[in-house]
Amino acid sequence: MKITNIQTKILKAPLKTPFVTSLRRVYALEDLVVIIKCDNGSIGYGEGAPTPQITGETMGAMVATIEYIKPHLIGREIEDFDALIGLIHTLIVKNTTAKSALEIALYDLKAKSQKLPLYRMLGGTQNTFRTDITISMGEIDKMISDCHAAVALGYDTLKIKIGDNPSKDVERVTAIYKALDKNIKLRLDANQGWSPKESVALLHALEKQDIIAEFIEQPVAADDIEGLKYIKERVQTPLLADESIFSLSDARRLLEMQAIDYVNIKLAKTAGISQALKLADLSKSFGVKCMIGCMLEGPISVAAGIHVASAKADIITMLDLDAVSLLSSHPVETSIAFNESEIVLSDAVGLGVKYTGNTPNFN
Ligand SMILES: [Mg+2]
Repeated sequence: MKITNIQTKILKAPLKTPFVTSLRRVYALEDLVVIIKCDNGSIGYGEGAPTPQITGETMGAMVATIEYIKPHLIGREIEDFDALIGLIHTLIVKNTTAKSALEIALYDLKAKSQKLPLYRMLGGTQNTFRTDITISMGEIDKMISDCHAAVALGYDTLKIKIGDNPSKDVERVTAIYKALDKNIKLRLDANQGWSPKESVALLHALEKQDIIAEFIEQPVAADDIEGLKYIKERVQTPLLADESIFSLSDARRLLEMQAIDYVNIKLAKTAGISQALKLADLSKSFGVKCMIGCMLEGPISVAAGIHVASAKADIITMLDLDAVSLLSSHPVETSIAFNESEIVLSDAVGLGVKYTGNTPNFN
């Protein structure tokens, strides 16, 4: 099964409502689909969303990276899978989202060649999952009404985006907590918005009111490893690292320092599925559970994340894979059921998705 062509297409999809974090405000999804064709007619799909604020990649950078790697993959056999994955990682450093998109397409092809759903090929059995949904940062009344709307759709776990103003953040979380039933779990994500001292003061202010979130995600700058450790030693609320962990060595350092409670795995940070699986194994060796998350991205790469969650279901116990539910439409046929908080994998071979190539009008 020889690779004969690799194409990229820009996928555009409108969001139901703007997506707002302490790092950015986004009105529509624009990401990159990778399509790998083989001589037997088999097609593999991959995808990744450029998120310059987090991975440093623009759309142009992603396209250029894939064009750079492409001639090294064309003419090669899918059966040389490990060598192909190795090539992607050795030809160029960083550029993690572009590499992930390529890897996802190769895994799709390999699973199709074995006539297996990807999660089965990776050793997974679980096919039904529950995800949280992200509540964008904003004014308190709007955040509370968004929370109520999410609960009405069946979500029992809400990821609250905060981080632009520590005192307002305490007000936001307190008001949201009081407005919701106590069986609704809150995850907090500050996207690097606070200093270590602000983090401790803010979390203490919440903890004094018995508001203990399932975790606080990435309160401080990605490279402030000592800051994470400082916070972990002083608060009850569990600490999850997101932007601080791209590579296995990033994770190993934090895990050895016992600076965090949980790891957020995202394919766009690990440069694809192969390293995500290893990151889950590494976390497990330290007894640390993982969440699998996504960028604001489309159904193909979110599907890949769900297959990885199934493969490592014993250690990836939390899902933050709501991106498909944030889109009002998208040009991807999928056999995966995205029913808001519930996601169900099918027995379709590979990822179980197909890019239909129609770019919707949303201007
Ligand atoms: Mg995050």
